Amino acid sequence: MTVYEPGREIELLATIDVLVAGGGVSGCAAAVAAARAGAETVLVERNGVLGGVATAGLMANIGNLLLDRNGRLVIRGITKEVIDRLVVRGAASAQWASREVPGIVVDSEQLKLVLARMLREAGVRVLNYTWAARPIMEGSWVRGAFVETKEGRRAILASVVVDATGEADLAARAGCPMRWTSGTASLEFKMGRVHLEELYNHFKEHPETFPVGMDMVKGFAEFERNWLERGIFFFPHGGGTKWDIFQQAIADGVFIPRRGELWRLDAVGLYGLRWLDSVIVNSNFWRVETLAPERVSRVQMEAQEACYYVADFMKKHVPGFEDAYIVQMASDLGIRVTRGIEGEATLTGESARESQPVFFDDVIGCRPAVADYSRTGEFLWGHTFDIPYGVLLPREVEGLLVGSGKSVSCQPQELIRGMSTCMVLGQAAGVAAALAAKKGVPPRKLDVRSLQRTLLEQGAYLGDKERLRELGL
Ligand SMILES: Cc1cc2nc3c(=O)[nH]c(=O)nc-3n(C[C@H](O)[C@H](O)[C@H](O)COP(=O)(O)OP(=O)(O)OC[C@H]3O[C@@H](n4cnc5c(N)ncnc54)[C@H](O)[C@@H]3O)c2cc1C
Repeated sequence: MTVYEPGREIELLATIDVLVAGGGVSGCAAAVAAARAGAETVLVERNGVLGGVATAGLMANIGNLLLDRNGRLVIRGITKEVIDRLVVRGAASAQWASREVPGIVVDSEQLKLVLARMLREAGVRVLNYTWAARPIMEGSWVRGAFVETKEGRRAILASVVVDATGEADLAARAGCPMRWTSGTASLEFKMGRVHLEELYNHFKEHPETFPVGMDMVKGFAEFERNWLERGIFFFPHGGGTKWDIFQQAIADGVFIPRRGELWRLDAVGLYGLRWLDSVIVNSNFWRVETLAPERVSRVQMEAQEACYYVADFMKKHVPGFEDAYIVQMASDLGIRVTRGIEGEATLTGESARESQPVFFDDVIGCRPAVADYSRTGEFLWGHTFDIPYGVLLPREVEGLLVGSGKSVSCQPQELIRGMSTCMVLGQAAGVAAALAAKKGVPPRKLDVRSLQRTLLEQGAYLGDKERLRELGL
């Protein structure tokens, strides 16, 4: 059944060059990049904080895909700037730039602050508590968005819109052909008063119990160096499924890894820093078959119960957790991937796994290629694959770019959803939007070399010197 909503005049909130919808790490990178490229930019974010999954979702670990296997820095630009700023604040380890570091663990509270400062310094107008409800369409052109605020519905007109909502809300409503992936979601939680040194000592005494070859961690020796030399506590996600403490408890019927619609409560990964007495726990999965609010809300409540179930078990059974308690549960369920656009180009898993570099003429960023750990003993190759501009461009819709790693055009959809690539994509979408707005051309018709030149000016990495020469850059 449907109900008719009568047409009405909507108050105009702003007329600008670039509107960015969604203030996760992708959207923040997009807005900062657009403003730095000279565009008058507005960012709308439904939450009261910036950072999305990385903050409201408590996912305080930037997967270290900045370096290839040889330690060459192949993701730079805004991604690196965010990390550098976190390091200055003591919110990340200064020794992150090593191939031995699987993830750059960060203080999620300070990430909120760093993103807000970067937006403010760039001159972006930030509107929190503002939902991008639907695109304003003129035929197949997106001309802005209707937004919902506490003061009612408003309109924002923009020369170009960047959809960084994660689930590509605007692209889907604009009529772009979409793909749906039933990805997974997890509710992260943070435990305080944790004695990580005690847990490290436990593994030192029983190194054979440390999981090997998971989540970019090779084994105990690497884990130990990260803890002792870099202050990073990185126990791989999924590690609990190979950890005797959890597995023995499951065998004894003391721990049940399934609860309602959630499973693998034993999949714990732990992320901490030496100078904080807290650790993020990543431990449960839900299959996202729908974004219907009733269902998502029910699962989120179930996941909150599950967080306490896991935390109570850890307090009783995991060394170093005797005094611990949950200081915070993520306010947002962390959704990995669901909707993705069909773009002008689609990046495939084969490109990401090639044993040779993969080049695209319209490269807007690079990422280390993935190696098969079970065959090579390495997680990455010493070369990269290019990310083409076409993955940001939704088919059949104009005036819109998608800038979130969760929803650009990829198969599989999760290929480049890590935070480091999210910021690469966001930065590229922001610069492209700014240039298209300035030149009065649709993003699809933008001169890619001018986009690449501006990205290089903004510190992005698009390839080594030889490759840049080949591209005429
Ligand atoms: C459980 C989990 C674990 C992960 N682990 C890691 C990891 O260890 N390392 C790593 O690098 N990456 C990890 N990732 C991936 C990475 O964290 C995310 O892909 C990335 O943070 C997504 O950023 P984003 O800005 O593209 O999207 P999001 O973070 O989803 O941001 C979207 C933003 O848009 C807002 N929004 C949504 N809809 C609207 C709307 N209609 N109007 C206005 N605002 C809207 C949201 O509130 C949010 O702030 C993980 C992801 C999850 C879910």
